[in-house]
Amino acid sequence: MTTPAIITVAITGSVPKKENNPAVPITVAEQIESTQAAFEAGATLAHCHVRNDDGSTTSDPDKFAALLDGLRRHCPGMIVQFSTGGRSGKGAERGGMIALKPDMASLATGSCNFPTRVYDNSPDLIDSLAAQMLEHGVKPEVEAFDLSMIFSAVAMEKAGKIKGPLHVQFVMGVKNAMPVDRPSFDFYVDTLNRLAPDATWTGAGIGRHQKTLVEWSLERGGHVRTGLEDNIRLDKDTLAPSNAALVEQAAALCPRYDRHPASVAEARRLLGLELAAAA
Ligand code: ZN
Repeated sequence: MTTPAIITVAITGSVPKKENNPAVPITVAEQIESTQAAFEAGATLAHCHVRNDDGSTTSDPDKFAALLDGLRRHCPGMIVQFSTGGRSGKGAERGGMIALKPDMASLATGSCNFPTRVYDNSPDLIDSLAAQMLEHGVKPEVEAFDLSMIFSAVAMEKAGKIKGPLHVQFVMGVKNAMPVDRPSFDFYVDTLNRLAPDATWTGAGIGRHQKTLVEWSLERGGHVRTGLEDNIRLDKDTLAPSNAALVEQAAALCPRYDRHPASVAEARRLLGLELAAAA
């Protein structure tokens, strides 16, 4: 019998459409359509940012609300996760969408360097975003860009700042942060298993490493993330035609590791998430 793997689709990248891949969905309507196709291809968790129609960054809660509403209608049961990362505004405004009660929100539990800047997550900001998630019953996905962020998340769970069990995403391949390195990846997995045996985890590889992390994660019993936010290519010569195409690629890798794409019910059970009441 195979075990379920939750496929996360990270639908929208950070670069304006014209410099990227025309398949990246920008408007809320495009995002809903792209996510529905990815959902039908086997993704059960959508990681979302919202953008202005010209592709620039916004943290507009109205856009997040419209996206949440559309996804709940078109992708029944799909887990919706909003990003509180640096592209969702500055400082406390990064948590402006938590009150909308998506199923999950991302929570980086430390700072690191990104390709051209510092990804700045002060202890106060982390605590305040975590407190808003607790208040609104939103499950955090801990974004671990390095090892210390795993230890911080475990400490926050022990202190009651994050409701367990933890769900952690190991992010590898961001320039100037953690590279894609198999011994380090294995150490992440072993460390999380040791410190928080009931935790679940996902591996996310950026750029050309996306498929590598999918394979490693399937092999080690984790969950996987794919999508045009992290990588715009199917392989080095081919632009991905859609988020769904990347989800299909991840789903096709599952049987090789005795895994299958999780159903909505399996994904929700694994993450301890009840189905949101219809609005
Ligand atoms: Zn993101």
